[in-house]
Amino acid sequence: MINFSYTRAHDVADAVRQIAADPAAKFIAGGTNLIDLMKENVARPLHLIDIAHLPLDKIEETSDGGLRIGALVPNSDLAYHPEIEARYPLLGSAILAGASQQLRNMASTGGNLLQRTRCFYFYDTATPCNKRVPGSGCSAIDGINRMHAILGTSEHCIATHPSDMCVALAALEARVLVTGTGGARSIAFADFHRLPGDTPEIDSTVRPDEIITAIELPPKGFAGNYTYLKIRDRLSYAFALVSVAVGLEIDGGMIKEARLALGGVAHKPWRDRDVEAQLTGAPPTSETFQRAAETMLHDARGFGHNDFKIELARRSIVRGLTQAARGTPQSQIDKRIK
Ligand SMILES: Cc1cc2nc3c(=O)[nH]c(=O)nc-3n(C[C@H](O)[C@H](O)[C@H](O)COP(=O)(O)OP(=O)(O)OC[C@H]3O[C@@H](n4cnc5c(N)ncnc54)[C@H](O)[C@@H]3O)c2cc1C
Ligand code: SF4
Repeated sequence: MINFSYTRAHDVADAVRQIAADPAAKFIAGGTNLIDLMKENVARPLHLIDIAHLPLDKIEETSDGGLRIGALVPNSDLAYHPEIEARYPLLGSAILAGASQQLRNMASTGGNLLQRTRCFYFYDTATPCNKRVPGSGCSAIDGINRMHAILGTSEHCIATHPSDMCVALAALEARVLVTGTGGARSIAFADFHRLPGDTPEIDSTVRPDEIITAIELPPKGFAGNYTYLKIRDRLSYAFALVSVAVGLEIDGGMIKEARLALGGVAHKPWRDRDVEAQLTGAPPTSETFQRAAETMLHDARGFGHNDFKIELARRSIVRGLTQAARGTPQSQIDKRIK
């Protein structure tokens, strides 16, 4: 591990000042991803700016009836917060499907958004990886790519975004609040993470001098008909092969509004407005859900080892939509197990 200096930020303005002054610096919050990357020599920041003590740990009501979640709220506090359990159970169950209780106690909301891919080659400094060393090549395209993406890939990178929480936030249409030298701005969740294109080293639209201060949830939480379905190699402590976040509003036997996002299949949580429009106004039947899955995966492409993900995603979408429509979310099963 390289030598690095360490400072604490006193407030948000100080954090922005410090990060803007040093291009080799990185923020550290819970440290559950960054420290691993430093130990593997994948991240080599010369200066760590500790933001863990900033007063960004509140969950508050917004003026429009939504919730503002501070960037330093631990994942476990967020999942078990009464407002999240009652109004946004989709978010709570997605968080509880990730990592372990110990990790969730340390992991922050902001850090979860910026955690990096779990592509094995990204972690293995002996192999080429465009995300780690731009221009060096992608070892996964012709390599072991069982965990990799089937949608939105490029010839430069086929990595997936590993977060569970972010899949639910995409479905809920959250916004991410950031502050930098240019002031504060709010980013729609759909615009927060990037597809790899020809710059896979850039994961998100957060600028180098910006700090995430909060996430805002709109009032609608789809608490009646939702599910977070995570398919993985073992039932706990594993990243998603495919995950599905669903929120439905059902009225008079018809779908009035639909949200559907996939995890484990792309470089960002994958949402398709055309599929949601197709679901809207349709009856919540098996035929409707099969059709939605077909449309969602129309452009899916496997790379050999991960070909199975296309069929897995198709079945997971149908099962996720069915569970949500019946009001029998997977999360109830998950909570019993944990
Ligand atoms: C063994 C293991 C299993 C895991 N399994 C899962 C899983 O199944 N599902 C899942 O979703 N996650 C999983 N995780 C990931 C875990 O959820 C993340 O590591 C965690 O959320 C990161 O939060 P952190 O506060 O520790 O971030 P840190 O490690 O402190 O930071 C991560 C990155 O975010 C940046 N950062 C942090 N906060 C801010 C901020 N406020 N503004 C700007 N930049 C910031 C840091 O500079 C760094 O680049 C797992 C992790 C481990 C180690
Ligand atoms: S998929 Fe992306 S992260 Fe993995 S080796 Fe290729 S470039 Fe690197």
